[in-house]
Amino acid sequence: MSEAQTAFSLDLSEDMRDVQAWVHEFAKNVIRPAAEEWDEREETPWPIIQEAAKIGLYSLDFFAGQWLEPSGLGIPVSFEELFWGDAGIALAIVGTGLAAASVAAVGLPEQVAEWVPQMFGTADDIKLGAFCASEPDAGSDVGSIRTRAVYDEASDEWVLNGTKTWATNGGIADVHVVVASVYPDLGSRGQASFIIPPRTPGLSQGQKFRKHGIRASHTAEVILDNVRVPSRLLIGGKEKFDTRVARVREGVRAGGQAAMKTFETTRPTVGAMALGVARASYDYALDYARDREQFGKKIGDFQAIAFKLADMKCQIDAARLMVWRAAWMARNGREFTAAEGSMAKLMASEAAVRCSDEAIQILGGNGYTRDYPVERMHRDAKIFTIFEGTSEIQRLVIGRTITGLSVR
Ligand SMILES: Cc1cc2nc3c(=O)[nH]c(=O)nc-3n(C[C@H](O)[C@H](O)[C@H](O)COP(=O)(O)OP(=O)(O)OC[C@H]3O[C@@H](n4cnc5c(N)ncnc54)[C@H](O)[C@@H]3O)c2cc1C
Repeated sequence: MSEAQTAFSLDLSEDMRDVQAWVHEFAKNVIRPAAEEWDEREETPWPIIQEAAKIGLYSLDFFAGQWLEPSGLGIPVSFEELFWGDAGIALAIVGTGLAAASVAAVGLPEQVAEWVPQMFGTADDIKLGAFCASEPDAGSDVGSIRTRAVYDEASDEWVLNGTKTWATNGGIADVHVVVASVYPDLGSRGQASFIIPPRTPGLSQGQKFRKHGIRASHTAEVILDNVRVPSRLLIGGKEKFDTRVARVREGVRAGGQAAMKTFETTRPTVGAMALGVARASYDYALDYARDREQFGKKIGDFQAIAFKLADMKCQIDAARLMVWRAAWMARNGREFTAAEGSMAKLMASEAAVRCSDEAIQILGGNGYTRDYPVERMHRDAKIFTIFEGTSEIQRLVIGRTITGLSVR
């Protein structure tokens, strides 16, 4: 094959196709059949996480392997399949990944080596991680985080106080990553992330939220009351943080904030999750439209229904191309000159909401009941336009990036 022919390809490698098929089987045979039960129970689906751990799907090895897959498509392809199975259970399986990514993205090699394995544990002793940035008064506005981290020179420890909210796995995780303000006068540039080891005194779970969708995924407040951690648990190291702060004070622009850096690396991943839900609702509606008859015809034979399916398919494929592009760019060190990560997340999450909405319409009254899965998919889909930056925030990021203006 000539170089010109190999320069661009959307073919997945054989390894990637094997992973896709393997994850799909798990999603179809283990996750799907359990989806309704765990949505109703609104609890962490431990037996399913255990099954995933047993086959190596919930493991550091699997996540690291997919994260490092050279094309960048390892995580998008496997997450799309998992979320096709069920979004709530899938988030319970991959929620640790956000905390792990926050350490892997900016942590020192020794921090990554010590703490990321402790977030996953082993098949016999499963552990979880949680990433805690959001607060009651700091959601989209991450710069206004109030949780404080104060350095205690006498003990060489950080002391953290504050309330985190909306934390996936918050309070039930073994390792928590907490974003806190060290220098409130500097806004987000005075923030750092800290690793809170298992059973650290002072960290407790606040209220657990009862949600509209993704109900198998645990979401809760995390209270930090005089939590003390050794100084070495500032992610990226105190020395680097002090240098960055000194540069900010001198008026030199700092190269990124702790929380934003994590979000940048994970946005295409969230797009892939949304894609899984979009595809699941499309698949279900497609089968239904080819089967259900009214006025003596398959309803798919009505242009009104076929056009909905055509639009859904176009939106899904367009979103997937954007997710894959952003993931490929991230893996290959390309600069995101038009906020391509945010573009992918925005398109895929809005496609999930639209496709699941249309799926209900195609199923008619059945679609509106809990006897059919599209009702759950519709509830699940909505989270993707909210977490990891709302659709409005994605548009702000894209708008600012492409215009170079400080769009408000
Ligand atoms: C189920 C779930 C799981 C979550 N998991 C985590 C987690 O693991 N860790 C974590 O740290 N956080 C997590 N979050 C928090 C999530 O990231 C925030 O909810 C999200 O960032 C939005 O913040 P907010 O809810 O405070 O909304 P707000 O920021 O109050 O926004 C409310 C509305 O105002 C709009 N808005 C805000 N600012 C602007 C602006 N400048 N311009 C235009 N519109 C604006 C928003 O788009 C939105 O429509 C989770 C949330 C949920 C619901």
